Amino acid sequence: MPELPEVETIARELRPLLVGRRITGAWFDWPNQIKHPAPAQFPAAVVGREILDVDRRGKWLVLSLSDNAVLIIQVKMTGVLDVLPPDTPQDKHVHAVFGLDDGSQLRLRDTRKFARLGVYRRDEAGQVLGADEARELFADHGPEPLDPAFTLRDFRRLLRRRKGRLKTLLMDQSFLAGVGNIYADEALWRARLHPLRSAATLNANHERRLYSAVREVLAEAIERRGSSVDDYRAPQGTGNMQHFLNVYGRTGKPCPRCGRPIKRIVVNARSTHYCSWCQRLARKR
Ligand SMILES: [Zn+2]
Repeated sequence: MPELPEVETIARELRPLLVGRRITGAWFDWPNQIKHPAPAQFPAAVVGREILDVDRRGKWLVLSLSDNAVLIIQVKMTGVLDVLPPDTPQDKHVHAVFGLDDGSQLRLRDTRKFARLGVYRRDEAGQVLGADEARELFADHGPEPLDPAFTLRDFRRLLRRRKGRLKTLLMDQSFLAGVGNIYADEALWRARLHPLRSAATLNANHERRLYSAVREVLAEAIERRGSSVDDYRAPQGTGNMQHFLNVYGRTGKPCPRCGRPIKRIVVNARSTHYCSWCQRLARKR
């Protein structure tokens, strides 16, 4: 499932293709993918609007449209976005197509149909409002870990309010926005912290290591255009980060730091990869 680096890559690669374009048509054949407004009203909510910017919040793509509208796209597990000439052949997995005023089309291809689209409103303060127009759509999202304003102090303050296992916490979108299974495992390995370790047991040094590890692994993954495990592909093709993962998907292979085999456990129904030597649980006294 695409996480922050993958969605950021999609946003960066769509931006030059979409900014300044006007939406001239909207077609879809899978009404369940439309979250807001009602599917029948969706085309009227986007057609005629100009795309002003393409951005990201957490794992969601945010297309700012004219007249304070916002088109949100969650690509989820298998959604792929492309901007193509209209005569490009289209298979049965393309479930949404937006016509653009230069003749090209923004297409969403999604073999498993988990992707979701919605048009919402922005308020005067720039907040994206949700379906009932009263609740902020991203209200339950934590800070963006790569935001330059997100400091170690902020991270400490967030951590000290939380208990629970580090792996679970890192994947909680209300703690930090955009971190999922792959980069939680990678960040914990870099920080030499066990995924089942309780957040309440960290000292200041651990906190600093985890803060740096999260930011470094996300920044490096963006640099490499994301990890193409499963179906992820950005407009300019697959990413490279999958070749540079140290623990994720490497069960039984040697830890790049100590050579001992990478272990796999299941935490909250998700595969979790770690080195039992480099990431030891604190011994109980
Ligand atoms: Zn190791």
